[in-house]
Amino acid sequence: MKKVSFKTCKRCLYDSNHPLGLIIDNEGICSGCRIHEEKDSIDWDERWNKLVELVKPYKSKDSRNYDCIVPVTGAGDSFYILHNVKNKLGLNPLLVTYNRYYNTPLGIHNLATLRRNFNCDILTMNVNPTSVKKIIKTTLRRLKSFQWPALAGQSVFPVQTAVTHKIPLIIWGAHQGLEQVGMFSHLHDVEMTRRYRKDHDLMGYEPDDLLQVYDSLNEEDIWQYRYPSEAKIESIGIRGIYLGNYIRWDPLMQHKEMIKKFDYKSSKLNRTFDTFDHVDDWFYMNMHDIIKQKKHGFSKVTDHACREIRHKRISREDARNLIKYYSQMPSLYNQLFCDWLGIENGSINFILDSLKIRNPNEKNKKSKIITIDMKKIGFKANSSIVRNIGEKLINVGKGYP
Ligand SMILES: [Zn+2]
Repeated sequence: MKKVSFKTCKRCLYDSNHPLGLIIDNEGICSGCRIHEEKDSIDWDERWNKLVELVKPYKSKDSRNYDCIVPVTGAGDSFYILHNVKNKLGLNPLLVTYNRYYNTPLGIHNLATLRRNFNCDILTMNVNPTSVKKIIKTTLRRLKSFQWPALAGQSVFPVQTAVTHKIPLIIWGAHQGLEQVGMFSHLHDVEMTRRYRKDHDLMGYEPDDLLQVYDSLNEEDIWQYRYPSEAKIESIGIRGIYLGNYIRWDPLMQHKEMIKKFDYKSSKLNRTFDTFDHVDDWFYMNMHDIIKQKKHGFSKVTDHACREIRHKRISREDARNLIKYYSQMPSLYNQLFCDWLGIENGSINFILDSLKIRNPNEKNKKSKIITIDMKKIGFKANSSIVRNIGEKLINVGKGYP
């Protein structure tokens, strides 16, 4: 077997084989950590004022259209984004959400709370389940991923809506490439692109690339995921901006504030200490996380731990222990996923077994006792997504009044 050579950052725990691309400098520090340093040197008041000026021309003059689009989910940064867009910038957003079908009751609850608190109009995209399942079967087999339709749907539905409703401004939270690996500086004002979506969100595959003569997918299954043409985007002047370029982005602090102000619900998760991320999805932090670990040699807990090292809330040693502990936790609810998709549990195991473990050091990791209390740092759960026996997936959920 060919030996894979890589360098690990001296500050965080990412290595030079990070799938988003990462550079380690002469001092042994990675580009993600270097760009993170900007968070403490940038004049954020000045950046905020720039944002205020940037969005001004998009305010509807006659109140007959929305000022912008905000993509939302029942987890993550949606509350914080909306708080800034609606309460601080004074914009009237149209919310859009793509239904991934793996909803936890907590995710449905959070989305309902969000709608009630922020009092916004919302559009939900429910692609027919037959096509979604067909695509998942194809992408599981070909890309070893079942999240492709979710990633494709949530990144394209806002752009399609912008075209249909002629709303040129889309406002996202943080840019993943900037936050994790320092792909851009905060000062580059990076905006949404079709290229980034294809290369990173969609693993290099546009919807049309999934159509093959010997496969079962047809035009009718994939057209909903197609990005609008350049001509359409240009004629309306659609752009997508990231709040992370204008606000000092810190998910833990933001979530604590959102819990206090707007009753955001968090939950303990099996494979990470972060209690806020992905609490709306049964499988993201389970089977998807195991696949990520097998494909790339690290799982979501490494992303969370590196972020916390950079914010100086945990040490590198604590991070290592957290990663060792959580990355050997099993994936829950595999049977539930197979039942919904209509496949044998054995075929999932076959796919998992076919994935080589990229980083050989990952193989023999043993559980470590964690001495650090993450609750003290702020990763508390004020609710729970534990599934009751026999409970089915909520495919379409309206929420709670
Ligand atoms: Zn680093």
